[in-house]
Amino acid sequence: MIKQDQLLWIDGREVAALDGETLEVENPATTQTAFVVARGQGPDIDSAVDAARRAHDHGPWPRMHPRERGRILRAAAEILRSRKESIGEVETACVGRPLREMVQQVGRAPDWLDFFASVAETHEDLVVPASGELMNYVRRVPLGVVGAITPWNHPLLITMKKVAPALAAGNTTVVKPSEVAPVAPLELARALVEAGIPDGVINVVPGFGTDAGKALTEHDRIDRIDLTGGTETGRQVAAAAGRSLIPVQAELGGKAPVLIFDDVPIDVAVAGATFASFVASGQSCIAGTRLLVHERSIDAFVEKLVERTQLIRVGDPMQPEAQMGPVVSQRQLDRILRLVESARAEGARVLCGGERLAGHAFERGYFIAPTVITDVHRDMRIMREEVFGPVVSVQPFADEDEAVALANDADFGLGAAVWTQDLTRAHVVAHRIRSGTVWINDHHRIDPASPWGGFKDSGIGSENGVEAFNDYTAAQSVLVNLSRTPFDWFGSSEELRYS
Ligand code: NDP
Repeated sequence: MIKQDQLLWIDGREVAALDGETLEVENPATTQTAFVVARGQGPDIDSAVDAARRAHDHGPWPRMHPRERGRILRAAAEILRSRKESIGEVETACVGRPLREMVQQVGRAPDWLDFFASVAETHEDLVVPASGELMNYVRRVPLGVVGAITPWNHPLLITMKKVAPALAAGNTTVVKPSEVAPVAPLELARALVEAGIPDGVINVVPGFGTDAGKALTEHDRIDRIDLTGGTETGRQVAAAAGRSLIPVQAELGGKAPVLIFDDVPIDVAVAGATFASFVASGQSCIAGTRLLVHERSIDAFVEKLVERTQLIRVGDPMQPEAQMGPVVSQRQLDRILRLVESARAEGARVLCGGERLAGHAFERGYFIAPTVITDVHRDMRIMREEVFGPVVSVQPFADEDEAVALANDADFGLGAAVWTQDLTRAHVVAHRIRSGTVWINDHHRIDPASPWGGFKDSGIGSENGVEAFNDYTAAQSVLVNLSRTPFDWFGSSEELRYS
């Protein structure tokens, strides 16, 4: 059973905020307070960075054999797996996503610890072919203290995507999770501490972006900053990192296109599109929000899409039969409805949904009926901005070139999907789309081995995979003189050995 009152995790223990402040986490399905959590601010971030700095500069973690680090990370993974039900309930209470989905996602997140433990254990340093009588080996050394700032929409998974590779590579970390959903990241710290991670290696300080987040980003004793969040937040965080000359990795917004060619059976296309668009109430950076459908099949597709969308069971996310819960907050609800209204005002047609759900089951939460919109054009706000809700637009295309042009007509480039049975077309179209991930006949799949990053305004750098592990290290080049010939640069007139 997870405690309703949560403290900060700093230097291996739970502590109250220095000024004793707390924040309330609201359950979006009931609008009741689900958790009361210590609220970290600048001084708490300072003490977390101090702890992480000490643990990095003087503690055992960066110096530990990778197999020993791996053993601790795997032990933490097992602890988390044994708690997936209770942590899944926490996630549902904080973000409103159906329990059946959250338990599955929480059960998957420990795979990141296992994967990066393996990467660390099997990592081999390089010997490079430097010229001359030299042996040149290149070590990958930890960067130091990594600051991680995470959003509310996949609280544990996104924290894990940053913490697992950072720790496996020997860094220490300070995490500032979203104040909307900070409890699962705190449970990650608890599991790592129980697994035996040394004090100060993992620190988690919930708080607001405007104070705790800013204090972390602008801190002069961190060595890298990682963010997942909106594009505007990304610009602010990257600017601060630029001033400190530290690397920044940013996973930002998206507006994923889903290209559906007319060789796909309508039922298959609609099942794929509803999965792409409405999982997590559309509150996902890679939600398929722009359905691009071949003009020959669009009428049949839209008819079936509306029918299927209206059958999605929206309800109490704790109940096993619920397929969709509320959106996360009043703020998100207002924003989504405002964008739907703007689309209506600009001439779009709302075929279903587009309104807050009323009636006794929906009395208190932020429930929106899943929404399908047609008659859209590129200049509408709904086509340019990230909605982050259960709203999808449908547009026709005449041929492959037009489909690709429409898909690429966005400031974002995070995820995209291509649905077709034509093997050549699937690959050729995927290669023409400017986005970090393209699914073929699928959507939403993610794996710790599979690079994940945004093109254009969707981010800088990428998560997952061996490349991400290397990004949490710096290359240290060690050159060894193997020559037996005495060498004195200023001592004689002999020919210079080096130029
Ligand atoms: P925000 O950008 O509002 O917040 C993200 C995090 O940054 C939060 O912890 C926030 O704190 C913090 N923050 C906000 N402003 C600052 C600042 N000036 N300095 C430092 N930290 C700050 O995003 P949301 O939490 O609303 O998450 C949704 C967004 O995340 C969407 O745009 C979505 O596309 C994106 N996202 C991207 C993913 C990807 O992989 N590319 C995956 C998931 C989400 P606080 O909560 O207090 O504001």
